[in-house]
Amino acid sequence: MVAEFKARKLDYLYWILPALIILISVFGIIYALTAPPVSIPLDNIEARKLIPIVTEKTMQHSRWSIAIGFLWTIISTVLILTFLQYGLAKRLSDFSESKTSNLLLQVTLYSIILSLVIEIITLPLSYLTGFVFDHHFGLSSEPLSQWLLDTLKGFALGSVVEIPLWTLLLFLVRKFPKGWPYIQAATALPIMLFMTFISPILFEPVFNKIQLMEASPLRDDIKKLAAKAGLPNAPVFVSDKSKQTNTINAYVTGIGLSERIVIWDTTLKKMPKEQTLCVVAHELGHYALHHILIGCGIGILFIIWSIPVNLYFTPLFFKYLPEKWKIKKVQDLAAITMFVYVSHCAGFFMEPFGNFYSRSIEKDADMYGLKLHHDPINFARTYAFLSNENLSDPCPPKLLEVWLFSHPPLATRIKYVTEPDAKN
Ligand SMILES: [Zn+2]
Repeated sequence: MVAEFKARKLDYLYWILPALIILISVFGIIYALTAPPVSIPLDNIEARKLIPIVTEKTMQHSRWSIAIGFLWTIISTVLILTFLQYGLAKRLSDFSESKTSNLLLQVTLYSIILSLVIEIITLPLSYLTGFVFDHHFGLSSEPLSQWLLDTLKGFALGSVVEIPLWTLLLFLVRKFPKGWPYIQAATALPIMLFMTFISPILFEPVFNKIQLMEASPLRDDIKKLAAKAGLPNAPVFVSDKSKQTNTINAYVTGIGLSERIVIWDTTLKKMPKEQTLCVVAHELGHYALHHILIGCGIGILFIIWSIPVNLYFTPLFFKYLPEKWKIKKVQDLAAITMFVYVSHCAGFFMEPFGNFYSRSIEKDADMYGLKLHHDPINFARTYAFLSNENLSDPCPPKLLEVWLFSHPPLATRIKYVTEPDAKN
């Protein structure tokens, strides 16, 4: 009786973080939709001239995108809690275990049924926020059939990646009930590196055709720029993203032999050549400054940090789980849902820290790009172009920037590339 009372008393601990996530997200939605536009505090006259005029359409798109992000967070939090509170995690694990004794097949059943239910429940919202929204703002002309196909591919790819990982994790916690955190950390490292390596080769081509950039005067200039950065062999690929979106982008992906710069075909079609070179110079910055490798290094630190957390905290965490959740120990099949719960909560609260770091490396890549391709005015024009074409607010409220922005706001970028220091 006393033990039960004690355990019950701790239930609220498991509700604090999800409740906070929902509260912050509700506040985020209200704030995103009501905060007044920020005026651009620029003493730099040149930068002021280059910052695009923010249209009503840009403002609406930026703010609604943020509100939708928070709405998704609320919905996924509620779904996870409902699944746990009604004992559905346990019921699904009982069902999967009754059908087969093979762990891989049990995880496959559990994971596919769970993801499928979530996918079906959220499909109307996915359609509104992932399809209707972009079409409404003219940012996509993708046919519905293509969108549905991509959604299906995303689901299949997610399952193919997730199922072996969950199976391996459960296998380890069952086989090594005491020492599993060490072994899990030791296997997480090569898995992380392997995933980063194969992602551009195996995953990205599932959605898009990604080919080496064809010979053109622009490609020659890109090659020259890459050679100047000491990366004469940096491969430049083009992705046919125009299938899905009208927005423009480029990025660096992969590691070692799979590392590459990928430019969306929309960028090549729409952006003036001088500005495309600025985008590439920025991407070469990521490449030359080894940002992906550094990202993996941070991943390794997290993996090492997870050892004591899993050794000491995970058993306690499972010991006091709310009675109604019916999950007893980390070895249960239903523990998969607890890992989802933990990564959901941790992901939400880590986001501002991740974005703080991301903004700092984006600035480094900008500065490297500017040093490599010294054309401050075209850098500034590139950011203005991105703001206009992608309907992104160049100067968002500080609170939104701190929590959500992975890149410095475009007005900030225009400011620092046109500052006298940068120009010299
Ligand atoms: Zn970047």
